[in-house]
Order: sequence, then structure tokens, then C-alpha cells
Amino acid sequence: MGDSMLDTVLSQFNHAADQIGLSDDHRETMTAFKRVLQTQFPVERDDGTFDIYEGYRVHHNIARGPAKGGIRYAPMVSLDEVKALAMLMTWKCAVVNVPFGGAKGGVIVDPTKMSLNELENLTRRFTTELVPIIGPDSDIPAPDMGTNAQVMAWMMDTYSMSRGYTVPGVVTGKPVALGGSAGRLEATGRGLVYVLQEYLRDSGGIQGRKVAVQGFGNVGGVVAKLLQMEGAIITHISDKDTALYRPNGIDAVAAANCAAQGVTIAQWNEEHEGRCEYVDLDDVLTAEVDIIVPAAVEHVLTEANAGRVKASVVLEGANGPTTEAADAIFAERGITVIPDIIANAGGVTVSYFEWVQARQYVRWSEERVNEELRRLISAGYQTVAARQSAARDGSTLRDAANWIGIERVVEATELRGIFP
Ligand code: NAD
Repeated sequence: MGDSMLDTVLSQFNHAADQIGLSDDHRETMTAFKRVLQTQFPVERDDGTFDIYEGYRVHHNIARGPAKGGIRYAPMVSLDEVKALAMLMTWKCAVVNVPFGGAKGGVIVDPTKMSLNELENLTRRFTTELVPIIGPDSDIPAPDMGTNAQVMAWMMDTYSMSRGYTVPGVVTGKPVALGGSAGRLEATGRGLVYVLQEYLRDSGGIQGRKVAVQGFGNVGGVVAKLLQMEGAIITHISDKDTALYRPNGIDAVAAANCAAQGVTIAQWNEEHEGRCEYVDLDDVLTAEVDIIVPAAVEHVLTEANAGRVKASVVLEGANGPTTEAADAIFAERGITVIPDIIANAGGVTVSYFEWVQARQYVRWSEERVNEELRRLISAGYQTVAARQSAARDGSTLRDAANWIGIERVVEATELRGIFP
């Protein structure tokens, strides 16, 4: 077994399938990919030249509803990675019980090396390539790494132009002025906080806990800020270039508000006379804290560093941050991993609310969005935790979350039957 993210996700699936005694037929159905679109397309650069880019959109399984999943712009995007992320989306939507199947998309590109105009050209051309398979009833993209509300606005506009009327329900994570949902921007980070509150409910809550957060984008910046607002002490934050440390707590609220305006954490620290110490990027996940939140990229917790992790809880903000080897080490060391498919499901949950609002032409208040998010994600977590403790066999929260996700998709498949 290699260690690509697809290998990890398939191996986790097989492990869960063994534990619940899934039939061979269902194993094959659950690991089949419904639809894969691979495209190479030209984009005009500002100097008048053209470059060819490669992109993907994968529908893993749509037994429970339309395909749903983010679009990633990053240099390391690959078809295998997109497939792995699409499969994770299938289980995630099932665990929080939103009526979607799993999808994911991506383009191999470094968006930080493009002008705004080039990024718009790339997005509009890629969306045009996706028109045959996306739509409010079939497949609804959302932001992921390297994409944001503006990219979703261009996607919505491009799709609408192909139809001749405005279709707000074709993407989620849009700007609020275009029908984006109140609370969507912060939803993944907020969901992480709600799940952690449930986990710590009987052991004193978040107040006073020391936390290290890796990644300071849409997920990491927001979770650091919201955890601080709940009384946690954020001792470490990092982005891809810089890691900051302050023993008595970094002002993550101020740092996140600046990061949302495009200020890097290094620039923010300089503006504040270097109040935080610079440490190694690798130190963040092995810091002397209670909780670590990997919220950047996949496979950052590995055999090489899992033995040195000092936190007792790993709250997975990113998708797939923990390799199987690291999972086994954490289980042996008694470190709890709160797995991605429940921990970071706040994003897709509020995306579901945005889609509902778009289809009904109504607007929910931010209070209502947050309240409904808390209800769905807390129920999802409690179902997973109850299933894990009922097993009484050393199974992890990840095992239990996978059982629930897989069983719900299998149930939908059985009810529908295999066509024809
Ligand atoms: P983003 O592009 O907004 O931010 C990514 C952050 O990670 C940036 O601060 C970047 O500098 C940092 N980073 C990249 N490589 C790093 C490294 N090696 N070490 C430390 N920091 C690094 O992306 P995002 O939307 O915050 O997504 C982050 C993760 O969360 C991804 O795995 C994504 O799939 C997952 N996720 C996102 C959402 C969402 O709603 N955006 C929902 C669920 C899961």
C-alpha cells in the first residue's frame, strides 16, 4: 500500500467495511466512482500568450442526493487527490445527514502566481468545461483551498450565462450580496468549535485550553479566532511560510481579521513589533498544548512526527491531515483524533443551508444559520461518539464516523436498487 491520499481513504474504507462486515457487492459499489471529468483547457495570460491547464471534477457517489464538494486551485492537485476528497465528501454528507452525494474538483495551478484577470479567465473557462455536469439539481461546487467567494461568483455567472438566466443554486460559498449565506465564510471553523464543545462537554469545556493551529486560511484563521473567543489560549499559529509562538496566547482575533484582508501572519507580527516568537513550521504540531488543529493540507501527521505529538486531542480542520500510520500511533498513545468527516463538516452543512435558501429565494439570519449548524453538527458528533462507545472494542471516532457514513449510503443504495 502506497501512501497517497487515495490509498489512505480507500484503506480507511476497507478497515471500516471489515469492521461492519460489508458484503463484497457493497464494497465494490461504495468504492466505484460515478463520474470523472478530466479536462485540459487554454487560458489567456495578461501578456497575450496562452497556457494549458488541467482540471478535474469527480462525482464519487450520488445515492443520497446531488453531488456536492469544493473546487481546489493548487499546484499539487491530482486526479487521485480529487477522487480521495470526493469519497470523503460522500461519507461527510452522510454523517451530518445533509441530502448530498460526494464530489470534488480541482485545477493544477498556483493561484498566487496569477493576476485577478487571469484567475477570472481560468475560472470562467474551467466552469464552461464543467457546464455539462454541474447544476443546482446535479452537482453544486463550493470553495476549497485556493478558491473563495469571488471565484464562486464567477462560476455562478458563467453557468448562468450558459442558461440565459441567473442560477444562484449552482454553487455555494458565494458573496452574501449574490445570495451567499450569512455565516458561510466562518462555517467550517465554527463547526470545528461546536464539535470540540461537544467533545469537551463533560470535561470542563474550551476555556483555558492551549491550542496550536496549523494553516491560517478560511479554516485555520477562523477556528483560531473563534476558539480564542471561547476562552482558549492560542499559543501557536502558522501559514505555509511562517510559524508564530507566544506562551501567554497570540491575539488570534486580530491576526485572523488581518489575514482576511490578505495580510500574512509574518506581516501582522511585524506590525505588532514582533510580539510573537518565530518558530519552525514543524514545531506547531508537536507543541506543548492540549489540542492541535491541522487546518492546512493533507498528510501532515505521519509516522515521522506522531510519536512526538504532545496534545491529547487532534481536531482535524483539513481533509485527510493524518496518515494511517499516524492514526495507529495516536490510538496506541491514547490521543483522540476527531476526524475530518465530522469535525470540518460545518462548511458543507452551511453550504446546504445556502442551497436551500437559493432554491426557495429566502434569506436566513446569521443567528438562524449558526443555530441550525450547531444542531446538525452536534447531532452528527453525538451519533458518532455514541456508536464508538457502544462498540467497546477500541475502535476510534474515525472508525465510527466511517461506519455511519458508509451504512447510510448503503441503505440509500438498497432502497433505490441497482438500475436497471
Ligand atoms: P485556504 O487556502 O484558505 O488556506 C490554507 C492555509 O494553509 C493558508 O494559510 C496556507 O498558507 C496554509 N498552508 C498551506 N500549506 C501549509 C503548510 N505546509 N504548513 C502550514 N500551513 C500551510 O484553505 P482552506 O479553505 O482554509 O482549507 C484548508 C483545509 O481545510 C483543506 O484541507 C480543505 O480541504 C479543508 N476544508 C476546507 C473547508 C472550507 O470550507 N474552506 C471545508 C472543509 C475542509
